[in-house]
Amino acid sequence: MPRVQIVGAGECGLPLAHQLLRDNGTSVTLVTDRSAQAVLSGTVTSTQIKFPRTLDLETRAGLGMWDSTAPEIEGIRFAVALDRAVVAGWTGRLSRPARSVDQRTVFARRLTDFLTAGGDLEITDLSLPELDRRSADYDLTIVTRASTELAACFPTDPAWTVPNAPQRRLAVLYLDGVTPDPDNVGTYVSLPGIGEVIAYPALTGPPGQERCCEILLFEALPGGEIDVFNPHGTATERWQQAAQLLERYLPAALADRYRAAEVTDSGATLVGAVAPRMRQPVGTLPSGMPVLGGGDVVCRMDPGGAQGANNAVHCAFRYSEAIVGDPAGPYDRAWMEATAQPWLADIAHPAARWTMALLAPPPEMQALMVAAQDDPALADALADTFARPSDMSRFTAGSRVAQSEHLGGEQDSRAAAP
Ligand SMILES: Cc1cc2nc3c(=O)[nH]c(=O)nc-3n(C[C@H](O)[C@H](O)[C@H](O)COP(=O)(O)OP(=O)(O)OC[C@H]3O[C@@H](n4cnc5c(N)ncnc54)[C@H](O)[C@@H]3O)c2cc1C
Repeated sequence: MPRVQIVGAGECGLPLAHQLLRDNGTSVTLVTDRSAQAVLSGTVTSTQIKFPRTLDLETRAGLGMWDSTAPEIEGIRFAVALDRAVVAGWTGRLSRPARSVDQRTVFARRLTDFLTAGGDLEITDLSLPELDRRSADYDLTIVTRASTELAACFPTDPAWTVPNAPQRRLAVLYLDGVTPDPDNVGTYVSLPGIGEVIAYPALTGPPGQERCCEILLFEALPGGEIDVFNPHGTATERWQQAAQLLERYLPAALADRYRAAEVTDSGATLVGAVAPRMRQPVGTLPSGMPVLGGGDVVCRMDPGGAQGANNAVHCAFRYSEAIVGDPAGPYDRAWMEATAQPWLADIAHPAARWTMALLAPPPEMQALMVAAQDDPALADALADTFARPSDMSRFTAGSRVAQSEHLGGEQDSRAAAP
């Protein structure tokens, strides 16, 4: 029976651990830095919209606990706003709805269920030497959470040139009391030269006490007019800042929906930035032992493309299928490379290209956005491209957007801090 160790209990590590536990032919140990209770009493970590293909994977694996309770997000309303007026835009319907459930809710429930099902869970913040020492006791170690020192074991992927610093400064707020969107769609407002404001409904709260809320995500161009959030502010202070920005920059019809809003809880906000980074999927520990990377460790993108959680879940299912399908191993470097490549080619790399094209749209992408205003079928297809980024090549075959691994602004492959 192969012995598998998974480091990190998030979007990738948890479904992977559940799948391996369910397969009685694998012994699995899950190592993470916080308990379900600590996750629940912490702050929000994402906005985690998931698209149908991702939700299908979770549902089929018995992990779709919120299928009937999480609000359906039926499409995307894209708008370009100048001086509070919409100057361009389209609304695209998704073929099937997307959903978002607070990662605190999801991770806490999955950690508890893993323990209840007899899973081996260790709560510890592993140093690199500790991981190296204990990896000798396992046939396979999968790293789905990388500290700075552990990330250094995974070489940067030389095929990619990504910006060497965050493209946006982020502020997330989970809110009660927001008037729902009349069309059940998410909103993506582009403020030229300033950033984006993204909003959609979600589910939050401790497992068993979930309730609907609205999520707001500010994607601020660094140093720009909406890059104002205090990294040390309280949730209430951040909401006061956010409310002022909505009144100043958003069309009145949209800003009015937030007049009676308040934060869902004291951990309902997050301020920070994501430095994009593409790494090779096989890392090497100081002892020379190879480890397999998954999720953000290998492909970390700005949240503006709404891809990272989807990407991590697909990675979990691809990896679990490979392990269950090959119980004898050996899980050596060649096996790891062969296991990661289909996920990278089918899911992660198209998602990264899509995200970079959204944040710094090249001319052909801008032309598509303009054309979608008068073409509802194109608008629907663009909305669905969030759900299946590999479809982007349908629109842009032969163009820079379809092929390039060198989009997204600064052409500098120097390391960004993990
Ligand atoms: C503001 C924001 C909004 C986002 N919105 C979206 C979106 O709408 N859609 C989307 O698809 N993606 C979104 N993402 C990205 C998405 O959240 C991540 O890509 C996804 O969670 C990555 O999954 P993962 O399993 O790689 O890592 P994570 O989900 O981050 O899981 C890592 C786990 O490791 C644990 N851990 C931490 N330190 C240690 C340690 N030292 N030792 C052991 N364990 C440790 C953590 O507790 C955590 O549970 C967003 C991200 C941000 C920041």
